[in-house]
Amino acid sequence: MENNYHLETLAVQAGWNPKNGESRVQPIVQSTTYKYATAQELADLFDLKSAGHFYTRLTHPTAEVLENKMASLCGGVGAIATASGQAATSLVTFNLCNAGDHIISASTIYGGTANLLGHSLAKLGIETTFVDQDAPESEIASAIRPNTKYIFAETLSNPSVRVLDFEKFSRIAKMAGVPLVIDNTFPTPVLCRPFDFGANIVVHSTSKFADGHASALGGIVVDKGDFDYEASDKYLGLTTPDPTYHGLVYTKTFGNMAFIAKGRTHVMRDFGMMMSPMNAWITNMNLETLHLRMERHSSNAQKVAEFLESHPNVEWVNYPGLKSSPEYERAKKYLKGCSGVMTFGPKGGRKGAEKVMDALKLAAIVCHVADARTGVLHPASTTHRQLSDEEQKATGILPELIRLSVGIEHVDDIIADLDQALKNI
Ligand SMILES: *Cc1c(COP(=O)(O)O)cnc(C)c1O
Repeated sequence: MENNYHLETLAVQAGWNPKNGESRVQPIVQSTTYKYATAQELADLFDLKSAGHFYTRLTHPTAEVLENKMASLCGGVGAIATASGQAATSLVTFNLCNAGDHIISASTIYGGTANLLGHSLAKLGIETTFVDQDAPESEIASAIRPNTKYIFAETLSNPSVRVLDFEKFSRIAKMAGVPLVIDNTFPTPVLCRPFDFGANIVVHSTSKFADGHASALGGIVVDKGDFDYEASDKYLGLTTPDPTYHGLVYTKTFGNMAFIAKGRTHVMRDFGMMMSPMNAWITNMNLETLHLRMERHSSNAQKVAEFLESHPNVEWVNYPGLKSSPEYERAKKYLKGCSGVMTFGPKGGRKGAEKVMDALKLAAIVCHVADARTGVLHPASTTHRQLSDEEQKATGILPELIRLSVGIEHVDDIIADLDQALKNI
């Protein structure tokens, strides 16, 4: 697709350019395998001498459309669709890190990622140092070690909707000589393009706003292709011969596609975290309205946040679109809207939060965010319950905190529902 199209046009049309007589809508290629006429042709594919689909665990035509669309929406050179957002972050990690390596991550991140980095990867010998993302630059930089392989943070953190100081984080990553990996799940490329602010690799859980209808689990890794792996001796997996591909060197053979090529031929081949054709098709279809949905999620959430802030039974509201937010200016600098997610604390502590949630009628209690339908969740007793009290505090979870994901229904109905529920305290 031509690069000079606007993001809205790319959301609708990028990735699928049917030829004469082909289906206007991309087909679902529901097949695990692809046919070839000669043994040599398939052998060349296995040796990465030619490109083509042969087994759906590595690549398939339905995900390819989604990958190409997301790469162009984000401004990257390539993308890899994964079975979930967790799989996307895992793929980045296994592509860059070995046992004995080190990651620096903002502490204010999604609970699942905090578990992955802090516990599961630790068991594999990959250690993460969690840092307060608003700590002074020198303090965060002091966590850099010779074996640090990437720096990780979320553009808009889940659930505390903190806005990342991109300039600071990209300076620290440059100082460390490692890629800055950003989880851009909440803003999506419609509200923020982290590549414009110094990120080298972006991951999304497409299960959230990208799909946006709570119908397809998925994730995607997008690479900007601008990190110079050959400039350091840290990434031997990318810069020295790979014995499982007859000594191929990814950076030599694939240039700025090295990270994507290794992620696919190595990590995806061995760990098998590919997005299914059906989920790729659903996600790609739903991306066609991403720009419209993100605009409405953001404008509805803005009005809801202002309503909650003025409500006598609400103790506090945390939404970076509010003038009272300490991150209001930063949000204006990096985001074209603050998405649909906010947190608030009703009066009455944990009990108050439970009363409000139980009384809601339009908003459902769901273990999900970023859906067309308004939903609420109590992180302290659900998504973040596996974290210790200290870990909960470090990720910003208070006992009364309700995470509210504002949908794209009429905003007056959402506000009326919250209003009647808040009267129950
Ligand atoms: C949900 C979420 C994830 C994990 O994605 P799954 O698709 O549920 O595996 C990662 N990061 C953020 C910010 C999320 O909200």
